[in-house]
Amino acid sequence: MEAALNAQINAELWSAYLYLSMSMHFENASYNGTANWFRVQFKEEQAHATILMNYVNAHDGKVTLMPIAEVPTQWESIADAFKHTLEHEKKVTSLINDLYTLAVEENDYASQSMLKWFIDEQVEEEETARNFIDDLKKIGDHGYGLYMFDKELAARVYVTPTPLAGKE
Ligand code: MG
Repeated sequence: MEAALNAQINAELWSAYLYLSMSMHFENASYNGTANWFRVQFKEEQAHATILMNYVNAHDGKVTLMPIAEVPTQWESIADAFKHTLEHEKKVTSLINDLYTLAVEENDYASQSMLKWFIDEQVEEEETARNFIDDLKKIGDHGYGLYMFDKELAARVYVTPTPLAGKE
């Protein structure tokens, strides 16, 4: 379980790095609201890694940080970035499901309880990306629509996830 959790910590940090890369790309493309949204997403992924690191430490395990693989640096459009986000989050969901299966097989009830939060979180992550993809389908390449969409994404603020409250 410890090795599997360490692998997931690396996966969450890779996610953080992916969304930071998207944020930098859209900052450069002058979509500052979209850049803000991905910057908040970057912080959330760091928080996911922190929740897992705290859990491993609390159970007297050892967190072993591994290299973070390269991430893409360019996206054709905002829609393209959210399609990539959805595709990536689906992969993360299957990683979390595999971890939960392992926790069940090992009769590891504490890990099962901790992972339930991640299972719910993944439902939200996928739903958010799907909704944005639907919105962007309606907008197409309509400049004013994209301008308004970007403005909406500027409003997102980082909120500490519940398992980390007071522990960041
Ligand atoms: Mg995550």
